[in-house]
Amino acid sequence: MTDHDFDLLTIGAGSGGVAATRRAGAHGARAAICEEDRAGGTCVLRGCIPKKLLVYAAHVSGEIEDAANYGWSIPETRFDWPTLIANKNTELARLNGIYNKMLADAGVELVPGRGRLIDAHTVEIETASGPRRATAETILIATGGWPSRPAIPGIEHAITSTEALDLATFPERVVVGGGGYIAVEFCGIFRHLGAQVTEIIRADHILRGFDEDVREHLEAEMRGQGIDIRAGCTIDGIRPDRNGLVVTCSDGTDIPADAVLCAMGRVPNTSGIGLEEAGVELRPNGAVMVDEWSRTTVPNIYAVGDCTDRVNLTPVAITEGRALVETLYNDNPRTVDYADIPSAVFSQPPIGTVGLTEAAARERYGEVAVYRSAFRPLKATLSGNQGRTMMKLIVDADTDRVVGCHMVGDDAAEIIQGVAIALKCDATKAQFDATIGIHPTAAEEFVTMYQALEAAE
Ligand code: NDP
Repeated sequence: MTDHDFDLLTIGAGSGGVAATRRAGAHGARAAICEEDRAGGTCVLRGCIPKKLLVYAAHVSGEIEDAANYGWSIPETRFDWPTLIANKNTELARLNGIYNKMLADAGVELVPGRGRLIDAHTVEIETASGPRRATAETILIATGGWPSRPAIPGIEHAITSTEALDLATFPERVVVGGGGYIAVEFCGIFRHLGAQVTEIIRADHILRGFDEDVREHLEAEMRGQGIDIRAGCTIDGIRPDRNGLVVTCSDGTDIPADAVLCAMGRVPNTSGIGLEEAGVELRPNGAVMVDEWSRTTVPNIYAVGDCTDRVNLTPVAITEGRALVETLYNDNPRTVDYADIPSAVFSQPPIGTVGLTEAAARERYGEVAVYRSAFRPLKATLSGNQGRTMMKLIVDADTDRVVGCHMVGDDAAEIIQGVAIALKCDATKAQFDATIGIHPTAAEEFVTMYQALEAAE
């Protein structure tokens, strides 16, 4: 017990902040959390969840196309964007209610309003009824990130992923700037819902940092679906005209658009909340500087999630928040193991990946064996869909340990989650081989690949 109002006061009720504060409450800490929006954060309100609901909607168009050769005659179909957005919003409201209830059940006070540090133990919250000051023994910063907007003339005409999830009308012509997670996911959503999509990327390929085969395979699939990917190209300007917008590109072309989506990275949401004034040091990109215990440069102030710009994924933020609470309130000091974090890109088709890329594995281990398989999925043999699946394993030649596993194809995210457990257990290729496949699936390829590329080529 301290003289403070709370043991823990968290700024930001997203995935990391809620996970930590709830657990702290459950361990008996007097905990509060402040939030200027609804509880839920990027993942629930502006990211993963609404995005995936739109991905499901986009998938339906492929199912309809595939149906004919499976014997189905489907009368003319019509897609209604406002219905999708309204239903998505109903679901988000339901999830927000669950977040509020989880916090209340754990005895956490949710204070609606923007929080700002006054000193190392005091936060001022801008509530609807005026500013409220609260003190706490420990303060947790969990303010997340925000889409960045590069200084391109006319960038104010572009939307970000936040607005893309809530457009009032469906854009028939979309230009997407950027080649990262968000860009390729929205290219897939808009294209499969019927839009004409152009993606402008400054690099040679989409998804910098991913395995080269993954990058090239997805890019070929996206092009095959009619997405115009302009590599080595930048957006030089965006201007309105009487038919919508015009995007001027560095390749000398002008592209007419109804919407321009700026998906050029995200920045930590750390300005204007009193961090530096309270002595919390930030990195040059604005991320809160933390040690392995998520402790900032002020000993009683911690930070988790995207505002620290470590690995910007929801489950990582949750794990960081829970590790912190174990350390502070459950006498069980824990740090986070950042090795072999699996992730997925919900592109069409999706990517699932865990471990090292081939290039990174060669750099770290020298000699590696690479197994790769690209094939037409069974479902497509009847439907006539031209999409192909690519699966790849990378094995350290010295120890036989599987150090990278990548897939582009249906269900990749679901499949890689299971494989990630094997990598976390340091599974060897021999153990993959000793595992009996489930037939007929794509996943069985991972336990039946027997000829390494070098040996085969
Ligand atoms: P990313 O960092 O993944 O990609 C940013 C993209 O923008 C890159 O293609 C980059 O190009 C490009 N870019 C950056 N600045 C400029 C510029 N000035 N001009 C032209 N292009 C530029 O960012 P996202 O916004 O897509 O996603 C942010 C993070 O959110 C991800 O890294 C991920 O951690 C998380 N996320 C995870 C998802 C998931 O798990 N499924 C889904 C969505 C987001 P270049 O390659 O040349 O650098």
